[in-house]
Amino acid sequence: DNITVQELANRMAARAPEVIKALMKLGVMATITQSLDADTAELVVQEFGHRVKRVSEDDVELGLVGAVDVETELQPRPPVVTVMGHVDHGKTSLLDALRATDVAAGEAGGITQHIGAYQVKLGTGERITFIDTPGHEAFTAMRSRGASVTDIVVLVVAADDGVMPQTVEAIRHAKAANAPLIIAINKMDKADANPNRVRQELLQYEVVVEEMGGETQDVEVSATKRTGLDKLQEAILLQAEILDLKANPDRPAEGSVIESRLDRGRGPVATVLVQKGTLKQGDIVVAGAEWGRVRAMLDDKGRQLKDAGPSAPVEILGLAGVPTAGEPFVVVDSESRAREISEFRQRKLRDKAAGVMTAARGTLDQMLARIQAGEQKEVAVVIKADVQGSSEAIQATVLKLAHEEVKVRVLLSGVGQITESDVQLAKASNAVIVAFNVRATSQARDLAQRENVDIRYYSIIYDVADDIEKLIKGKVAPKA
Ligand code: GDP
Repeated sequence: DNITVQELANRMAARAPEVIKALMKLGVMATITQSLDADTAELVVQEFGHRVKRVSEDDVELGLVGAVDVETELQPRPPVVTVMGHVDHGKTSLLDALRATDVAAGEAGGITQHIGAYQVKLGTGERITFIDTPGHEAFTAMRSRGASVTDIVVLVVAADDGVMPQTVEAIRHAKAANAPLIIAINKMDKADANPNRVRQELLQYEVVVEEMGGETQDVEVSATKRTGLDKLQEAILLQAEILDLKANPDRPAEGSVIESRLDRGRGPVATVLVQKGTLKQGDIVVAGAEWGRVRAMLDDKGRQLKDAGPSAPVEILGLAGVPTAGEPFVVVDSESRAREISEFRQRKLRDKAAGVMTAARGTLDQMLARIQAGEQKEVAVVIKADVQGSSEAIQATVLKLAHEEVKVRVLLSGVGQITESDVQLAKASNAVIVAFNVRATSQARDLAQRENVDIRYYSIIYDVADDIEKLIKGKVAPKA
């Protein structure tokens, strides 16, 4: 029943070090020859986005139906691009400008929807997919959950400002992810634009553009004047050709969750990027720890789709809950199978969260004591999540828990890691910090410990609701 790390890697057509890395993320230190139990093996297999046939609770039959695609079935797919760069260098402007080049935008019924990613169709019929959340925070958060969705990073550097700290961070993140860079030297319309200075400065960070004898493409653009965009797109397509990006469209879909949120009218909504196969309306999907039948599928123009192939970003409706960005999604063949995988993952997540909870017990107890002493009639929370969708969903969930005797106050609902200023804010209002798929900086952690501020880490919204509810219940004064 057990399988070694090496065997598992072979069956998934993956490299053993990658399997070991995935295991480390699950908190398991393993060597290549080590045997894994069925639970662990299944988790790893799912992390790799494969489907598992599980014979019984303890016996995973690693059939991996359709997991390995034969070379002949592979077809070229559009590249997936993330835009990074220093603040104010023009990431958002460039994404807007590129989006406006879409020849499909003018087609019937197209109204721009921000769903977290969009695809442009060029005059030549070629397509490029852009992740619509610029910056490396979202990119890193996705990667930390094992999702590698980005093929190419477009690094925006303002020609009048040059290489700045976040430019350097972006270079590091792109290199860590093995994603090739294309440099977009932006704001070329400005009088003080100095593209050569940018090229020169990049050398220091081992980014050598073609003009300097290197291999990194660079393109001069102006996002606001909309110049150079066609050259940038050509550069992206050329890079895609070099990367030889391919996928098999004729198989059940697999991919990653890009963004998710709870919509008032439509329920859980997730934007997914199809990475293999074709996603069809009516398909049964497992996304992270959630599952459902795809009731409707929409593109970034709000148009209903019947199917979506490799590299297509689509918004799907019909999931039972809100999955986490960066988690894999996969189409399965039955509802019972979907429920089984989803329950298995929820259980694993809860076990993991329970471990973290025990560590934070001390401060929670102190809080409950304050509550019981009647010193507090309000639960204040600071919410930080990896993506806007999650922080919004948590805020909505938490606010719904308010009780007539105990108020819930959300001091801050934001995106990004926990910083010292978050801890100070929480300290000032006796608040709990809800960290959803984000970490605290080490300074923030130290400060929290000194100041006795409770930072609680979560990866599923259900657990946030559960904990906050406990706090609120504790705060309700006993009926005399
Ligand atoms: P981000 O923080 O990197 O997303 O940058 P934004 O896209 O928000 O742009 C920051 C500022 O630079 C805004 O005021 C933009 O109008 C301006 N900007 C962006 N691109 C250009 C450009 O090509 N030329 C000029 N002159 N200004 C630009």
